Amino acid sequence: MRRNWTIGRLLGIPIDIDLSWIAMAVLLTAALATGFMERLFPLLDTRWKWSMAAVLCVLLFISILLHEVAHCWVAQKEQMQVDGISLFVFGGVAKLSSEPRSPVSEMKMAVAGPLMSLGVAGVAAALSWSLGLFTFLGEADEIFRYLARLNFFLAAFNLLPGFPLDGGRIFRALLWWSTNDLLTATRIASSAGQAFGLGLVALGCYLAVRSPATGLVQGFWFVLIGWFLGGAARLSMEQTVAYKLFARVPVCDIMNRAVEVIPSTVSVQEAVDGYFLRRPRPFFPVVDGSELKGMITLHRVRKLPREKWCEMCVSEAVESLPNREWVAADENGLVALKQLMGNGTTRLVVVRDGEVVGSLERADIRNYVHVRNILKV
Ligand SMILES: [Zn+2]
Repeated sequence: MRRNWTIGRLLGIPIDIDLSWIAMAVLLTAALATGFMERLFPLLDTRWKWSMAAVLCVLLFISILLHEVAHCWVAQKEQMQVDGISLFVFGGVAKLSSEPRSPVSEMKMAVAGPLMSLGVAGVAAALSWSLGLFTFLGEADEIFRYLARLNFFLAAFNLLPGFPLDGGRIFRALLWWSTNDLLTATRIASSAGQAFGLGLVALGCYLAVRSPATGLVQGFWFVLIGWFLGGAARLSMEQTVAYKLFARVPVCDIMNRAVEVIPSTVSVQEAVDGYFLRRPRPFFPVVDGSELKGMITLHRVRKLPREKWCEMCVSEAVESLPNREWVAADENGLVALKQLMGNGTTRLVVVRDGEVVGSLERADIRNYVHVRNILKV
């Protein structure tokens, strides 16, 4: 099932919305309509309350988006590659596929988001103050005061020192600047981020146990956010290590040499029995001798009439292998890593001079990093 949709582009950057964000937006609108709006405008029609709650929810959405756009704008100025912005249940995230070039770049990029949120909070507070002068508008100023508070909270939360939150990035930039080593800085910042996440989990458990009646929901959120931040800190560490490491290693050094290919001369029936039924894969490379001819996909086989399977040769159902599914053996490992992380491809075919020489999966990359960590090489 699809989990995210691209809703548009800003500064050329695609904006994705995750399914979890849509669920969150619906819940938030309901909570605002029945709580906040009910308290502010008890006499107003229900339809109006819901509409205003939806508008407030959209304003919150724009606030989060502006925070991430500020990060991306600076990142682009600092020559980092920005892949997109994702909005999901805990807010937003700017997806960068390259590391900052210097501690100063990282610092500029990290402070841009919270500064933008503080700016939006200031504008919302000013609007709230001016609306408050018009008494006939009733409690309308409260809506902007609420928005100002939310943006202030957004800035404050992101400035917490748990990497990869903005505060943690500022911390890493300072470490990087003082040690002159990105890896060491990331290792320390990531450990601090994981400890911070663990601290939130512990605090959540404490709140829930101390007074289950009032603290259970609050505690649950702390545990969830702490868990998420701890995981994100670990993942960022792995990503930085991998980026540093794979920029120096060619694909042929990491790949799996045992690769399964289907000879173009076998029948479709043999391909189904001998390959697709044994390994549930979306496609297999097809070869003539060892020369790559293309691929045969499960999707294509499914569309072929069943009675033709025995008489039809695989070469008659072969399709060309899309660029995203293969990588050259001499290519730098970082290119393969980005390909595997980026577009939903789980397994790359490794090709040298038109011949299939291996395959590369995320697990191969993980194993390689793992073994290097054990051997400390
Ligand atoms: Zn941020």
